[in-house]
Amino acid sequence: MIEQKRILATSVPGPKSAELAARKNAAVSAGVGTGLPAYIVKGEGGILVDVDGNQLIDFGSGIAVTTVGNGNPRVVEAVQRQIEDFTHTCFMVTPYEEYVAVAEKLNELTPGSFEKRSALFNSGAEAVENAIKVARHHTGRPAVVAFDHAYHGRTNLTMGLTAKNMPYKHRFGPFAGEIYRVPMAYPYRWPTGPEVCAEEAFAEFTSLLHAQVGEENCAAVIIEPIQGEGGFIVPAPGFLRQVAEYCRDNGILFIADEVQTGFARTGDWFACEHEGVEPDLITTAKGIAGGMPLAAVTGRADVMDSIHSGGLGGTYGGNPVACAAGLAAIGWMEETDARGRAREVEQIFRPRLETLADKYGVIGDIRGRGAMLAIELVSDLEAKTPDADLTKAINAYCHAHGVVTLTCGTFGNVFRFLPPLSAPDHLLNEGLEVLEDAFAETVR
Ligand SMILES: *Cc1c(COP(=O)(O)O)cnc(C)c1O
Repeated sequence: MIEQKRILATSVPGPKSAELAARKNAAVSAGVGTGLPAYIVKGEGGILVDVDGNQLIDFGSGIAVTTVGNGNPRVVEAVQRQIEDFTHTCFMVTPYEEYVAVAEKLNELTPGSFEKRSALFNSGAEAVENAIKVARHHTGRPAVVAFDHAYHGRTNLTMGLTAKNMPYKHRFGPFAGEIYRVPMAYPYRWPTGPEVCAEEAFAEFTSLLHAQVGEENCAAVIIEPIQGEGGFIVPAPGFLRQVAEYCRDNGILFIADEVQTGFARTGDWFACEHEGVEPDLITTAKGIAGGMPLAAVTGRADVMDSIHSGGLGGTYGGNPVACAAGLAAIGWMEETDARGRAREVEQIFRPRLETLADKYGVIGDIRGRGAMLAIELVSDLEAKTPDADLTKAINAYCHAHGVVTLTCGTFGNVFRFLPPLSAPDHLLNEGLEVLEDAFAETVR
């Protein structure tokens, strides 16, 4: 058992981590960066222990992955049992029950009372690729529409869907064709104000889609119900629903990329439930399996079953160990009311973030839902000038003081919070105290 307590044994990162960082630089491609190079040896609940004996508070969950916490006993036990039974057969060669059970669970939990089917993969990007494959095959149409500030992954097709150049796309092109980009209903930065954001963004969406794509050429519209890497942007209320309805009316498939928002993170199983939206296809990954690589596409049975046998798959997709972990993680979330816990986490964070906003005048927007929250930092509240430098400075302070924090946003000025749902209140509050100290030390 790791005590749920922050301990600073050395500087962070400490000397042993520094030695490992030197080895990393000599062995690992420079293209793979590390945000906080404290090398981890153990993790449990909301604590990560590094090689120097520092105990770090985890406000990132490995980017929204360990929602159930590292070392979740249920996941550990399921993985151990499955590893002893067998580790791989390839579901496409000789199948096994765990894969089917995960698909059943996904079909049950995802929004939409219609009949569904699922297919399993290894990563979020792979799930998105397959959702696009399915949409194109089913509709017989080529075009895909994605949004400003979108993040859908780093493979060639998903880089094309992702909006941000640095670091994701820079000099990695050319990208796949038939991808079109439209404005996101981003209330805080909508030029004419948040009140008209949904309506005007929807009008631009339909007008661009009609003029530049043509409805009958469009296979799918893909959107994150709360944008992740782009800055935890919550679309203006009503926007998602309008887009989904428009898609339905025009034979276009509506794909919700719930890779980051999925699995109790936002206080519901899936973020599109807040808007009452029932997507045709949903992509999931990250929080699904307590850290084991697992991803899925879930959607309308008629759409998913329109693919010929053998058209979807992959050697490792729905690996039995990952499936066992997924079933255990989802079981834990159901039994402990993880959705309720996510809402409690918001109750702990929000008031303290609001106090910071009042006190320092550098927080332009507080947004997100449940245990997926963010603050957008600006150097001028009126002009909304993004302050990436301050964001970096606060992040560095938190890291040096033993809190694993993450930034995001197209302009690099968003601070995001994604704590594990198994972290106790006192630990979340301790992490927030460090954040408050960071503001006191860095805001001029
Ligand atoms: C992380 C992410 C992806 C890509 O997932 P990988 O597992 O890193 O390939 C896709 N979509 C969204 C919304 C994400 O947050």
